[in-house]
Amino acid sequence: MKLYLKGHWELYAVEQLQMQLFPDEPTETVDKPFGSGDGAVSSLSEGKRWITATAKVTWKGKTAKACRRISVRDGEDVRLRRRILQQTYFLAATKVLGTTPAWGALSGVRPTKLSTWHMQEGGTEKTADRMLRDVYFVTPERRRLAIDCSLHTLQAQALLEEKDLSLYIGIPFCPTRCAYCSFVSQSIEKFGKYLEPYLEALIKEIAYTGKLLKDSGYHIRSLYMGGGTPTTLNAAQMKRLLEAIREHFDLSRCLEFTVEGGRPDTLDPEKLQVIRQGGADRMSINPQTMSDEVLKGIGRSHDVAQIYDAYRDAVQAGFQVINMDLIAGLPGDTAEGFLSSVRKVIELDPGNITAHTLALKKAAALYYARHDLPSGEEVAYMLEQTERLLRNAGYEPYYLYRQKYMSGSFENVGWCKPGTMSVYNIYMMEELHTILSLGGGGMNKVNTGPNQLERFHNPKIPQDYIDRIDTILRQKDEIFSILNSL
Ligand code: SF4
Repeated sequence: MKLYLKGHWELYAVEQLQMQLFPDEPTETVDKPFGSGDGAVSSLSEGKRWITATAKVTWKGKTAKACRRISVRDGEDVRLRRRILQQTYFLAATKVLGTTPAWGALSGVRPTKLSTWHMQEGGTEKTADRMLRDVYFVTPERRRLAIDCSLHTLQAQALLEEKDLSLYIGIPFCPTRCAYCSFVSQSIEKFGKYLEPYLEALIKEIAYTGKLLKDSGYHIRSLYMGGGTPTTLNAAQMKRLLEAIREHFDLSRCLEFTVEGGRPDTLDPEKLQVIRQGGADRMSINPQTMSDEVLKGIGRSHDVAQIYDAYRDAVQAGFQVINMDLIAGLPGDTAEGFLSSVRKVIELDPGNITAHTLALKKAAALYYARHDLPSGEEVAYMLEQTERLLRNAGYEPYYLYRQKYMSGSFENVGWCKPGTMSVYNIYMMEELHTILSLGGGGMNKVNTGPNQLERFHNPKIPQDYIDRIDTILRQKDEIFSILNSL
């Protein structure tokens, strides 16, 4: 689908919207007017008193137009110009589509940022709701989700102190690869030989970063070990890693320490005890579905009975909060099947439940063999009913994010029982403070000012991480020289 911009250069803002609203039509940006056929023209013109945005969208033989304007004075604010361009595109596109997407004209990964900013600047829930409705055309259900999450963000923000940051430690290995996975995680079957040298390099980075942290006066507010599946490490390796963390980092002001034990087949009572005694107080055990058949279809090498065992063992090991992930839209699943999974997980009574929507990227094996996927309408119904079940069971939405290529363009929502939200998830997703990343696959995000970030990538592939560990330590020097200058 062609896209032609006239009188402005806001390609990203308009293109993201086009990709979101027409996910099956690859966007082709053109630099001159095109004749007939599917496509859109987004224009901006400036007169003496008004700045006018117009959009004309043609799709499958239907054409619609929309127009919005702001005063020249308001147009000095680049965000307002961008806004009218997005609004006109959205209004014209939804006319030809005949439907309105759940998140309206919001195309970004973090739709809650807008309501959070609004309330940080003194707005109320009511005015935030109005802004999401009138400016971005967000549906009532999503407005409520966004505002509930923003309220938790404000609570998490109140817990922040000067000179604190959060830490992410990545273990990009898994026992086997799930069919829907697009992460760089390496299956232990093929790449197990790299696990030991990886751990050595990681402990080196932990020791080095620990010293930089001590010298800088910064302290750790939350700690998250993710992956991959960190519990791919055996109990002895996990013990070594946790000992290194405690030796080199001062965790006295750390509010929570989570270990992702995503795959139940990597958990046993001994390993869970090691993790709990090693200082972690939160564990994530991710069923994705409570159907053996669906599990088989997505290439998970465990069954539902192992999920129950892992959950019971984690409770016995004394974890204060357990999170469980589910995915709506998996191949072979149905609305009835998914809601049965939700009910079974609720019965276990974990502190947190994260309801994901399937996002299929090209790096996933399932992308090339996708069939039997529930439709966008079915996924919408699954999410709507999931929300009802979770709210009735006393859970509240506390953070959310969207990804490209999601079924129905919905969202992933973290739900929590009151008082159990994971502040790490909020700090990371809402970019409230610096996140230091250690290990392969992570990204350091250094907050250099209000809504300003500098990003530093760690190598994605474990082999590169091992080979380039000295360069990574130099990068940590660079990061701390920025932090120390703030
Ligand atoms: S457990 Fe997660 S990271 Fe590992 S293969 Fe499956 S989806 Fe990917």
